[in-house]
Amino acid sequence: MSDRQDLLRNLPAVDRVLREAVLNDFVDLLPQEAVSGAVQDTVMALRQEILAGGAVTADRLVPASVAAAAAEKCQALLQPSLRKVINATGTLLHTNLGRAPLADSAVRAIQMVSEGYSNLEFELDSGCRGHRYSHVESIITRLTGAEAALVVNNNSGAVLLALTALGRGKEGVVSRGELVEIGGAFRIPDVMEAGGLKLCEVGTSNRTHLRDYEAAINENTAILLKVHTSNYRIVGFTRDVPARDLLPLARQHNLVLMEDLGSGLLIDLSGFGLEREPTVPEVVQAGVDVITFSGDKLLGGPQAGIIVGRADLLDKMRKHPLARALRIDKLTLAALETTLRLYLKPERAQEELPVLRMFAADPAVQKERCEKLFQRLSDEELPIEVRLIEDVSRVGGGAMPLTELPDWAVEINPLNERIQDLARRLRGYEPAVVVRSSNDRLLVNLRAVFDQEEDLLAQILIAAIRAAE
Ligand SMILES: *Cc1c(COP(=O)(O)O)cnc(C)c1O
Repeated sequence: MSDRQDLLRNLPAVDRVLREAVLNDFVDLLPQEAVSGAVQDTVMALRQEILAGGAVTADRLVPASVAAAAAEKCQALLQPSLRKVINATGTLLHTNLGRAPLADSAVRAIQMVSEGYSNLEFELDSGCRGHRYSHVESIITRLTGAEAALVVNNNSGAVLLALTALGRGKEGVVSRGELVEIGGAFRIPDVMEAGGLKLCEVGTSNRTHLRDYEAAINENTAILLKVHTSNYRIVGFTRDVPARDLLPLARQHNLVLMEDLGSGLLIDLSGFGLEREPTVPEVVQAGVDVITFSGDKLLGGPQAGIIVGRADLLDKMRKHPLARALRIDKLTLAALETTLRLYLKPERAQEELPVLRMFAADPAVQKERCEKLFQRLSDEELPIEVRLIEDVSRVGGGAMPLTELPDWAVEINPLNERIQDLARRLRGYEPAVVVRSSNDRLLVNLRAVFDQEEDLLAQILIAAIRAAE
């Protein structure tokens, strides 16, 4: 008891702690109240620990120790929460890790428009007010062959805007096999409801026929919606009706035929082992009225939703209040425009867009990179078992997550600790390192690791493994 009283008496005064040098730097970066608040909180926590009978040693009560603990709190306040990550998971478009890394030219475009002023909504020729969408509209129509184009915040927004502007108060027909949940709260039935449409489900989970659509059409029907089932696949006894086969039906009943493509490819990637997917220009060519896709999936650009199609329909969307609420910001616009211009020459897109480079990476080269890392870890005599193994990478990110790319990885088994503990320590570095870990294996896959990150990744792995010794 008297011990406890002694400890409490030894708690330093806040003013005394504030005189410690480690806190000086923070006074320039934070308001005085924040720094003294950090000290007060630290002292308070110590007091409570003592009162609760915790084993608080006297050295934790000296002003320098209390100041050091308070300095950590100040540092945590200043440290950005959004941090750089080395993606060693082998998933190229990881929604949780920010999807597509941008091309250098797109990064420079963001810098250019954000550090000063720009002609975002200003026509330099006439000196009159302009439109923000004008910067990308003609490049998108040129690349896709569509009559008109519109960009919004993301593809979910694009789908919601299209449904709302074209079908509110009416009915939309969707195959039961396409009533997907893309992730989070984006479920087709819910988006239909949010857009004010009555959902009319047709067919069954595995099979939907043209006659199912035909039977569902009534005087309230406004839209026939096709949805890319990006993140799951029905196999076996299946049938669905491609959009082009729905076209005559849509025309006959004066309905809007809409397709949510999800990833939306501008160029054919089937040469790289991707299953043959219709590209956006092909879907436009087939005559689909409204097509939506994401900017940050396999397109390799920033988060955005791109809508292409019939000019009269896109005009309705552009004028809808929701368009203003979902509008794209200038940083995104700058990056998107630059990304799209790379596609004017597809070879350039493939060379300069990180996602496409990673996608097309030669497994033999991946193997060499992994061998190098394997060798380096082996040479260090670390407390691990390390192996070079065959692996698969994934496109991921709601954009063809099922597509597997043959690949290699370095498997690490720590001898003296659990895999989860090593994985957690790796996430604590700057940059954070995210690997693929399951109960019994920790895999380092290099496909989504940039060449210039390779050396740093090896250093962090070595340091993190050593930290367990
Ligand atoms: C990914 C995806 C969406 C959502 O797009 P975001 O750009 O993430 O909002 C919608 N529909 C499909 C089919 C998708 O694959």
